[in-house]
Amino acid sequence: MAKERKIKCDCGEFLAEKATIFDHFEIEALVCPKCGFVTLTKEQAQNYAKLKQLHQMMDAERKIIKIGNSMGITLPDALQQFGAKIGKKVKTEALGPKSFKVELVS
Ligand SMILES: [Zn+2]
Repeated sequence: MAKERKIKCDCGEFLAEKATIFDHFEIEALVCPKCGFVTLTKEQAQNYAKLKQLHQMMDAERKIIKIGNSMGITLPDALQQFGAKIGKKVKTEALGPKSFKVELVS
């Protein structure tokens, strides 16, 4: 996928591909190990734009609803473009007493 291509930073060091926190998101980016300069390749920028879209879609207050004898929350239909669909398995995990995450199982 991503071609190995060395890009030189203004400080003289070569940028390295690395998972980094960029604008609250953890993404793959090109980071200068010397001065900390961060930039994105076209592909990384597209991934970032998609992630930002997901963020806008998912960050909301939702209400717990009753489904049979269980409780449930609804997810936006547009989440399908990120791999969510009816019948899809998800993994839930407690992060704290009032916080948990939902991960799509691939
Ligand atoms: Zn640099």
